[in-house]
Amino acid sequence: MISKKMEGLVKGSSVIRAMFEEGKALAKKYGKENVFDFSLGNPNVPAPKSVNESIKRIVDEEDSVILHGYMSNAGYEDVRLAIAQSLNKRFGTAFSEKNIIMTVGAAGGLNVALKSILDPQDEVIVFAPYFGEYKNYVSNFDGKLVEVNPNPPTFEPDYKDFESKISAKTKAVIINNPNNPTGIIYKKEWIEKLASILNKKQQELNTCIYLISDEPYRELVFKDVEVPYLTKYYANTIVGYSYSKSLSLPGERIGYLVVPDEADSFEELTAAMGVATRILGFVNAPSLQQKLIKNCLNEKTDIEAYNKNRIKLYEGLKALGFECVEPEGAFYLFMKSPEEDDKEFVKVAKEYNILMVPASSFGVKGYVRIAYCVAYDTIERSLSQFAKLAKRYNL
Ligand code: PLP
Repeated sequence: MISKKMEGLVKGSSVIRAMFEEGKALAKKYGKENVFDFSLGNPNVPAPKSVNESIKRIVDEEDSVILHGYMSNAGYEDVRLAIAQSLNKRFGTAFSEKNIIMTVGAAGGLNVALKSILDPQDEVIVFAPYFGEYKNYVSNFDGKLVEVNPNPPTFEPDYKDFESKISAKTKAVIINNPNNPTGIIYKKEWIEKLASILNKKQQELNTCIYLISDEPYRELVFKDVEVPYLTKYYANTIVGYSYSKSLSLPGERIGYLVVPDEADSFEELTAAMGVATRILGFVNAPSLQQKLIKNCLNEKTDIEAYNKNRIKLYEGLKALGFECVEPEGAFYLFMKSPEEDDKEFVKVAKEYNILMVPASSFGVKGYVRIAYCVAYDTIERSLSQFAKLAKRYNL
């Protein structure tokens, strides 16, 4: 018999699984080219050629016993140092290998961070809408997720509500920049306001609140907007990074955490992250992928492909009368549901072979998420289906 906790989680995860199965069934019935599946955030742009070449070179040239062996739980020192130096060059920081912990993607990193800081019943604040998995990650360590109200249409944090939700139990705040599912970017001024509230509350409550910045989409930015580097604005920051989207390597499971020297309990926290990596069963981030990252620190995915999709979809949907948040980063478009019930709207869209995720999966109502990491041709052809959908709602 499985645990009560897992029983609930298996039931809860069936929405996305059902959508995946539905997509497959629709493709079988109508042909793959006639189904417009915008449900998954799986990069369609291939990894840069140099990434595959580098993997081959590493396998051919490195000492096989070392390459495939165990290493320090935090990862290879030379890889961590190379990442630290690359960040220093980009953001004017002063990191060394001590500040970097290699992780099994952003998901692995978040779980390592939360395992390191949460006691049961500790609270973690998120801003709605948020990546739905945060709830599961926090619950893994018996923490409690606290949601800050959404603030449409800009989705700038609701600072007043944020401040009111910080309590003596608040151990962490998670932000995701650029954002899944809204596609917006948290601006420098927003971060400054969040940092100022956090500093005030820490002093008032005499506690330590970590600000976790989840940044798998950091490189996917389409407008001339800076994605602020959080350690420069707030001492108790933990940055989670991943190559899943920036190099199109989601299946390879590689990323890292950054903890700045000035973070509360720096030595204990980084030691805890090493232990958490081990005892969560990761032991260490994949060795071959770590070596790959060291070689590919300056590689970039083809952002222009996503940008082309973004413009076509955003302009196309707006012209049809849909209300959309203009995406600035990541590869998601957040669209207002023409009817209050976003789940019902998603159901109706399926009649036109369009698959989208209802925003209730991200803690808000009345919107849908469209993942535009698909072929440009799919976007182009989907617009005539969206036109029928718009007509159905008299837009
Ligand atoms: N955080 C956010 C906001 C995401 O959208 C995702 C994946 O879609 C992750 C974390 C997990 O990323 P990874 O594949 O690097 O674990």
